[in-house]
This record gives sequence, C-alpha cells and structure tokens, in this order.
Amino acid sequence: MSLIVQKFGGSSVADTQKILAAARKAIRAAKEGHKVVMVVSAMGKTTDGLIALAKQITDRPSTREMDMLMATGEQVTISLMAIALESLGYQAVSYTGTQIGILTDDAHTKARIRSISTETMRKSLNEGKIVIAAGFQGVSDDGAITTLGRGGSDTTAVALAAALAADACEIFTDVDGVYSTDPRLVPEARQMDRISYDEMLELASLGAGVMHSRSIEFAKKYNVPVVVRNSGSDAPGTWIVATPESKTSSVCGAAIAKKEARVTVVGVPDRPGVAMTLFTKIAEAKVATDMIVQNISTDGKTDISFTVLEDDLPLTVDIAKEVVAAIGAKGVETDTGVAKISVVGLGMEHQSGVAQRMFRALADKEINISMITTSEIKISALVSQDQGADALRAVHEAFALQVRPDDAQGPVVLSKETKLSPDKLEGEYLSRLTGMEDIIIESVSLDNAQARVTLNNLPDTSGIASSVFERIAKDKIVVDMIVQSVGRNGRANISFTVSREQLPQTLTIAGELAKNFRSDAPLHNPKVSKIVVRGTGLRSHTGLASRIFRILSSENINVTIISTSERSINIMVNENDSQKACDLLKKEFAKEIL
Ligand code: ADP
Ligand code: ASP
Ligand code: MG
Repeated sequence: MSLIVQKFGGSSVADTQKILAAARKAIRAAKEGHKVVMVVSAMGKTTDGLIALAKQITDRPSTREMDMLMATGEQVTISLMAIALESLGYQAVSYTGTQIGILTDDAHTKARIRSISTETMRKSLNEGKIVIAAGFQGVSDDGAITTLGRGGSDTTAVALAAALAADACEIFTDVDGVYSTDPRLVPEARQMDRISYDEMLELASLGAGVMHSRSIEFAKKYNVPVVVRNSGSDAPGTWIVATPESKTSSVCGAAIAKKEARVTVVGVPDRPGVAMTLFTKIAEAKVATDMIVQNISTDGKTDISFTVLEDDLPLTVDIAKEVVAAIGAKGVETDTGVAKISVVGLGMEHQSGVAQRMFRALADKEINISMITTSEIKISALVSQDQGADALRAVHEAFALQVRPDDAQGPVVLSKETKLSPDKLEGEYLSRLTGMEDIIIESVSLDNAQARVTLNNLPDTSGIASSVFERIAKDKIVVDMIVQSVGRNGRANISFTVSREQLPQTLTIAGELAKNFRSDAPLHNPKVSKIVVRGTGLRSHTGLASRIFRILSSENINVTIISTSERSINIMVNENDSQKACDLLKKEFAKEIL
C-alpha cells in the first residue's frame, strides 16, 4: 500500500471551510488506497499575529518562549483538521511534534531535525487512521518545544515523507506550482512541470518563498519526490525531482530576497584568520550570511562585505562590533534598503555570457548594482529595495523565462520515474548520519587553471558591470567567478577569474577598460586556484564557511575570494597554497565525504 504525505500551508487552512476542503483532499487520497499523513501549518496569518503579540511586550523576547508561543498556532489546526475528518466520517488522529517524536537540536526558532520516530504514526496508520502532524515544530533533548524557522512546515512534511519512505510528498499551497519567479510580482511568470532539487534548493534559499529551502535538502538527500499543487484546484502542479526540466536553458528561474541588509566591516587587517573570527561568531549565532565579498587590499587593509536577512541585522551588528574591537578593524557600516536578485540554472555551468545578460538587463533599466557574487549555478546582484521588483521583472524578461523551453520535460509519472530507489544516498550512508539534517559533503576538488583580475576604483554607476563583462565576452573570454562590491569611497571594485591561457588577452582588455573608466590600473594574480567543496545545503549550514576559514587560517593560508551556494563553496587561494589547502579540507571533511 502506498503512503503519501500531504502538507497544507497557512492560506490553505485559513478558515474552517478551507480546513474541510483540505480534509476532503486527504479523504480522496485515502479512498484511492493511500495511507495518508497530513502536515498542517497555523491558520492564515496566525503565526504573524502571535509574533506581533510578543513584540507588543518586548523587542527581544527569549527564543524559547517564542517557540512555545508560535507552536500553539499549528496545534489549533491539527485538532480542527481531526475534527473535520471525523465529522466527514473518517478516523483521524492529531499529533504535535513532541508526540510524534520529532527530535531537534536546541537552536530555538531555527532548530534542525535530528531524528524522527515513525512508531506512533505507523501504528495509527495501520489502524486505518489519517495521521495529522503539526508542521514547523519539534522537541529538543530537554523537552522544550522548538520551531524550525518561518515556513518550516514544508520541512516537517518532507522530513516525515523521508522518515516514512513515502511515495510522494504533496505540498498544497495558494499557487498552481513552482513558477519561474514569484507570480505575484511578475504576472507573466511561467509554471514549470518540473524542477530539479538543486535548482529549487538554490531558488528557495535565495528568496523563492514557495518552499522552505531546508525541505529541499531533505528531498534531495532522501530522494523524496515532491509536488507543489494548488489546494483550491486539481491542477497537476510542479514536481521537484532529480532531473531538470530543460537540458538546454541556462537559467530556469529568478528570485528576489526583498529584505536584505548589507554589512561592511571596514579597515580589516588583511591576514589569515581575521575573516574566520568574524564568520565563526556570526555562524555561532546561526545567522546565514550570503554574498561575502572581500575587497582585494592595496594597503594591508581590506573591507569585508556580506548580506544577511534584515531581521538578523541587529544581532549581526552586535557581533560584528565585538569582532571589530578584537581584531583592530575600523568599524561596521550597514545598508538596509537593499534587495538581492538572483538567477539560477543548472545549465549555466556550461554556458558563458549568462552573467553579462543579467547585468545588461539591469543596466538597460538604469538599475545600479552594489554587489555581485556568482557560483556555478547562480548569479546574485544587490540592488536598492525600491528597484527590486523592477529588477526582477527585467531579469525575468531578459532570460525569456515566461517561454517554455523547447526541450522541456513534461510532468513526472510517479511510478515510473520517482520510486524511492535505494541509491548511494540511502541505506548504508544515511545510517551513518547522526542527525537527519547533518551536512553531506560530496567532494573536495582543486582547479589549478585560473587567474584573477581585479579592477579597482571604477565609477559606481549603473551599467559598469555590464560594460566590463560585455567587453570581455566580445573576445570570447570565459569568466568563472565574479565578485563586485562598492567600497567606502563609493567606487566599485570588480574581481573575476579567467583561465590562465586567456589572462594576457584579458589584461589587455582590462587595461583598456581601466583607462576608459579612469580607474586604477588592473591588478592580477596569474596563478590562483579554486577549491570546490560540494555537498547539499551548504549555505544554510551556517558553520561550514567558518569551519573552512578556520582550517585554512590555522596554516596561514589566505582566502582571496569565497563564493557560497547551497551546492558548493568555492574558495580562491594562491596556487602555492592550493594543494595543501585541498588536502587540509579533505582531511577535515573525511568523515562527511560520501
Ligand atoms: P503556504 O502558506 O502554503 O506555505 P507560502 O506563502 O509560504 O504558502 O508560499 C506560496 C507563495 O510563494 C505564493 O503565494 C507566491 O507568492 C510565493 N512564491 C515566491 N516565489 C515563487 C515561485 N517561484 N513559484 C511559486 N510561488 C512563489
Ligand atoms: N506557521 C509557520 C509560519 O508561518 C510555519 C509554516 O507556515 O510553514 O512560518
Ligand atoms: Mg510556506
């Protein structure tokens, strides 16, 4: 007998009529012969309301009590759902996270799942009952209620599907599926039939609120087929599976993170270990950083910029100020009104010119980019918040994301393509994981063929990145990593890497560009190496980047560029250090490497 997990989000259980409608969906699945586990969120905007109550009392309520408070929202829904099912003549039983045995760590409001006990659920399912589980919540070792982070019911659902080896996990929400971007912001957005785990993970982590990113880590690790569907219709939805929709398109989707903040630590002594201190402290507070950019220093001092969610800013600034005092840096600057626009696609790994197309789209709308970072399957640009929606639209159009690719794969046929197959991610390997959300590293590898070019002191106006990379692309030079930041003096600095063979050609062009822009003569390093640490969910595991910094700095190895994505962390070091750095990281991750 097959087993499915059905998750209903807040808007799909916003009132009792919707709760009854959700109950009917579960009944339909039960009648089709499935065992059904429902995971439900708090009704409508209940969680927001609960948070607002606490904020009426204090700005910084304790996280333990916030979890106690927020978890009540889901408890209301599970009981009403059970009542609804019983009223429709079906046997049902509701369970809180604690009752099921969803064990988490004790990181209140951001807890990670360690293990899930399936006994209670299995027993009820075998008694012919529909099981209703509270989303978003768990329990720590010492019995305190924890929550998984906003939007975390998706993660509960996919985690339960993984633990129960369910045939599929259906995510019912208020849109027809996963779109090329948020359809509320870009009405032309196209609904996809399917999207790969890697792309969905990246998009979710970069702001596509339709799925909690950690739920996709589970889906990928445990090979759970997930389908996002509309709770108000019978539309087939979008499947999230191992393979992408199209093999030819460079970009599958775009996302906006509307509430980002930029933090710059200025005047940081440029020696190994300094960045480590900063990011370790921030990681310890479980704050996820993105778009880390360290300007190449000319005077032994450097600026380190990165972005965090606006909500995490007060805490991040407190930590950064402590670090500034400890390392003898100059100060901390912040910029709130910023938004991060990203494009994502597996195809970009093998295609050049993608970044330049994005920069051109923004330049044509006169949107200024204050920071750029890239990794092999995503490009992110920071723009001002009030231009965020326009920027998203411009980028969506530039990649014609509203158009279905010619080679698009259609909907997934469940039995044929997605059966939970025992592959190397299952069985023996997973049994070694102590925590279900523990990090998985797939490989550590070294690319010794790169050179770095830096253009400092460019004017900070719209179209700069676009002119630079268009000019470079004209000569068929393939650019790998790109970082751009705007320094204290309001001048932009752009660094990028190219292959060593193309360096001389690139330097000629860079010289030309520097002259035209009246900026400094280009700097370069003819022999840099890229170390790539690959895995799943690397960015959301906040401690990983700092662990890497710590290992390398303990051997005095300086990291010049770091770029992070959910799938990989790329670290640029001098070639002389590269073999040693790679060996050190391999040793460090030996236990985690598949
Ligand atoms: P739920 O309460 O069901 O969990 P959410 O509000 O968390 O629902 O997620 C659904 C919303 O996600 C949609 O209403 C849509 O505005 C937003 N969204 C953002 N990006 C995307 C995307 N790429 N595809 C579909 N929806 C998206
Ligand atoms: N109710 C929680 C929230 O609003 C969890 C969820 O809906 O996924 O964040
Ligand atoms: Mg949600």
